[in-house]
Amino acid sequence: MLYHLECIECHKKYKPSEVVYTCTCGGLLDVVYDYSKIHLTKKDLKGPLSVWKYRALIPVEREPVSLNEGGTPLYRVDRLAKNLGLKDVYVKHEGMNPTGSFKDRGMTVGVTKALELGMKTVACASTGNTSASLAVYGAKAGVPAVVLLPSGKVALGKLAQALMHGAKVLSIRGNFDDALKLVRDLCDREGFYLLNSVNPYRLEGQKTIAFEIADQLGWKAPDRLVLPVGNAGNITAIYKGFKEFKRLGIIDSVPKMTGIQAEGASPIVRAIKNNAAAITPEGKPETVATAIRIGNPVNAIKALIAIRESGGTAETVSDDEIIRAQQELAALEGIGVEPASASSIAGLRKLVDMGVIDRDETVVCVTTGHLLKDSEHVLSVCPRPIEIDATIEAVRKAVFEN
Ligand SMILES: *Cc1c(COP(=O)(O)O)cnc(C)c1O
Ligand SMILES: [Zn+2]
Repeated sequence: MLYHLECIECHKKYKPSEVVYTCTCGGLLDVVYDYSKIHLTKKDLKGPLSVWKYRALIPVEREPVSLNEGGTPLYRVDRLAKNLGLKDVYVKHEGMNPTGSFKDRGMTVGVTKALELGMKTVACASTGNTSASLAVYGAKAGVPAVVLLPSGKVALGKLAQALMHGAKVLSIRGNFDDALKLVRDLCDREGFYLLNSVNPYRLEGQKTIAFEIADQLGWKAPDRLVLPVGNAGNITAIYKGFKEFKRLGIIDSVPKMTGIQAEGASPIVRAIKNNAAAITPEGKPETVATAIRIGNPVNAIKALIAIRESGGTAETVSDDEIIRAQQELAALEGIGVEPASASSIAGLRKLVDMGVIDRDETVVCVTTGHLLKDSEHVLSVCPRPIEIDATIEAVRKAVFEN
């Protein structure tokens, strides 16, 4: 075997054939490779970007369940950069994946793994995007999907996807953290395959964001990577991706991992600022950025390591700052993202203003989900369409009115 699962706390090992999500000691698991047997060079990585281009570093053997995920654009955003007072800023727009969020990178790998393990039903808790992605990849694989959502707190576009693609959608009277606890119990009892980001195979797909950024920058890592943090799987995964490319000699540095949370849901930021070994969960997370409305991030320990080891940091942003950043990115650069994704831009602005980020750093912000995911939010923050009579006089009056 070229890889195994290993506990990050007690280092107990598990075989790839085992269905296991966390260690018997309670620790998180990591996929660990025998890198001496992996020979991957820049030359092997010619051709178009996609998650499955990096098969040598993806721990599955069978034919992938795929809808062509990955290969998302890395936009250079000079107008935004100037506005922020920076020189070199890029946006990796993960909203351009098949279902409109980065979750597809993890799901293509996770659902393929489910088939490889012979699992008959897949399940997850979700703030929305994970459920949309699981519904789609479950449909593609021909495997039933069960999703647990916090009632009334899921953006309509995400709910629409979960419903249309045929998942069993359960609306829980509770928050995401409650839903995650329930689905873990359900999976243990019923033998369903758990596809939240506590499942280490999900992260193996998501680490390809790092591989693509390195490729798109001409085999270089940026100085800093800024992204929203919810359950903290993605920051962990992207950090792992950069470290692997460095280890294989494909790049020679790893970016400072910089996690952004909303003020109303910021356990990781508090742990970083307090220099704490672990987070203190928050009972009542609240923010307009529903994708990161999480009080007890399951991957917190891994995320704290990623931030500290890389010399990065974590910062909070207010809902108003998130909305302003969302509108700026849309108007200045033509990039439409959902609120959680805009927190990366809002956080970048705040950290530049605070003097934490240097003005000559090369920065990549990851925008995690597409604008159309949450159109209800758009209607609540943008001016309404102007309704007028169907006459040229009325049209002209409305056009030239301010
Ligand atoms: C899932 C998600 C996040 C949070 O990612 P984590 O891996 O849970 O930290 C951020 N933004 C969007 C749009 C998401 O769907
Ligand atoms: Zn352990």
